[in-house]
Amino acid sequence: MSVRPSKNDVESDFLVIGSGVAGLSCALEVADAGSVTIITKKQDSESSTNYAQGGIATVLGEGDSFASHRDDTLRVGCGLCHEDVVERVVQEGPEVIGKLRNWGARFTMRDDTEGKGILALGKEGGHSHDRIVHAKDLTGREIEGALLMKDFESLPVNHGCHGAACM
Ligand SMILES: Cc1cc2nc3c(=O)[nH]c(=O)nc-3n(C[C@H](O)[C@H](O)[C@H](O)COP(=O)(O)OP(=O)(O)OC[C@H]3O[C@@H](n4cnc5c(N)ncnc54)[C@H](O)[C@@H]3O)c2cc1C
Repeated sequence: MSVRPSKNDVESDFLVIGSGVAGLSCALEVADAGSVTIITKKQDSESSTNYAQGGIATVLGEGDSFASHRDDTLRVGCGLCHEDVVERVVQEGPEVIGKLRNWGARFTMRDDTEGKGILALGKEGGHSHDRIVHAKDLTGREIEGALLMKDFESLPVNHGCHGAACM
């Protein structure tokens, strides 16, 4: 694989290609272990992540269960889903939402019956329970902005490398 940064060559312990939610969260995960360089094609925020609207399905609601989320996903997947992957993604969902919140993503909240703020979970097609964590209808932009901010703020992450990585 060759990488062509637009300006000078840079040295770092980790090279992350892409600045969507996958790349930025990877950069944050490994930043404790060394320096990180992110190379991305266009502006830092230019990614599918930034355009994602609806939200993220995960099991956080009262009466919901991992088994229900898995079954809903497999049913609407019509045989195309890898069951082991569905199982893992469903199980890891709540922890990932926790991480995104810790990294600064602010999702839409509502008051519970005692007036305590909790995540406002939406219900979308194919789901039998309320389980869509969202930030109004700009969920991806909220996540992208939070992760970019976190990266820039406190980590040894080298941004500003704009260019396409070529296989
Ligand atoms: C309009 C829209 C709405 C969506 N709504 C939802 C939703 O409601 N819920 C949901 O879960 N998902 C939704 N998605 C899907 C979701 O956005 C993606 O699954 C997710 O953002 C993928 O994240 P990613 O980090 O893997 O990729 P991306 O966010 O696309 O990031 C890829 C990064 O890699 C960079 N890159 C690519 N090729 C190279 C290269 N050769 N060299 C250097 N950099 C490169 C890109 O510039 C970009 O920064 C939506 C997507 C779109 C487009």
